Amino acid sequence: MIITGIESVPLRIPFKPGRSSAVSARGPADLPAVDSLLVKVTTEQGHEGWGEALGFEAVAVTRRAIDDLIAPLCVGQDAGRIAPLMLDVQRKLQVFGRGGPVTHALSAVDIALWDIAGKAAGAPVHRLLGGGAADLASYASLEAYSDPSVVRGRVREVLDAGFNSLKLHETEPAAIRAAREEAGPDADIMVDVNCAWTVNQVHGLADELRGFHLKWLEEPVWPPENYDGLAQVRSGEGIPIAAGENVPTLMDFDRLLRAGAVDFIQPSPAKMGGVTELCKVFQIAAVHNVTVMPHSFYDGPGLLAAIQVTAALGSVDSMIEWRCFDLEAQILGAALDPERGRIKVPQGPGLGIDPDPEVIRAYRTE
Ligand SMILES: [Mg+2]
Repeated sequence: MIITGIESVPLRIPFKPGRSSAVSARGPADLPAVDSLLVKVTTEQGHEGWGEALGFEAVAVTRRAIDDLIAPLCVGQDAGRIAPLMLDVQRKLQVFGRGGPVTHALSAVDIALWDIAGKAAGAPVHRLLGGGAADLASYASLEAYSDPSVVRGRVREVLDAGFNSLKLHETEPAAIRAAREEAGPDADIMVDVNCAWTVNQVHGLADELRGFHLKWLEEPVWPPENYDGLAQVRSGEGIPIAAGENVPTLMDFDRLLRAGAVDFIQPSPAKMGGVTELCKVFQIAAVHNVTVMPHSFYDGPGLLAAIQVTAALGSVDSMIEWRCFDLEAQILGAALDPERGRIKVPQGPGLGIDPDPEVIRAYRTE
């Protein structure tokens, strides 16, 4: 199966009227639309595989990494030798860094190659990995709203939609308190602050945060690679900690785990190397008795990669992050929509669902 083409596909899908996000990937904003970056890999035999890299404001730069750096190294190579090809690309590009847009780009291509592998075998990716769960628990991952009354309203919506676990992207205690009051004591609430605080600031806030009985506090500490700082918070404050979406390599995941920094680890398949590298994190996390909660803040193949691998390798505690962006259109259509908080694992070949060609036609930016 010789790779004949790698095409990057940028999409911009607006929020529904009246909806937006108060926070973007780089800070406060009033985002009217969400940018995603897909990749399509084709082979001589006519297979088409779809992948995804982290989007938002980095779409243009990650696209250049796909088009200028990765595609030339992959076109003409055997799509059926994924791990050796990805290792070869990693080695050839290592001088450009081991994380960030180059690795995000590589992740998208890896995911697409696994999609092709499944399609060529006539089997879903989870079956290539040994088979697994027919459905998975998920949690509602909300946008950032800041305003406690808006938080309350959105929490009510996702509870009414059948979720019993939800994640906030709020840093103000008043907003978190509103969510807990609305959800009651039985719902799982997680809070993701995207590295907002110093270790000292977390210590100062810890009494108040403990009162919210969080299932986890996500990335409390700046910078994201401050694994010892996370470990200090975790052991000193008795609040469960989650992190990992900004961890770029398997070596770094090992350091994070050996630092005792996390209760839940969150590898991000569209950032840290795709299906190939994600599989390895499940294995080392198991050694440390840490639950993998993949970061899947994506609506396309990045989300499917998390689902397929978790179905095969996850524990009963693993949950899929379901991004509750209320967009005009869904890249994968409605096939994945959780019912009572559970997602059916797609059983079609490869990742199981292709991006909707109508959505690509309507929302492709270039
Ligand atoms: Mg996060």
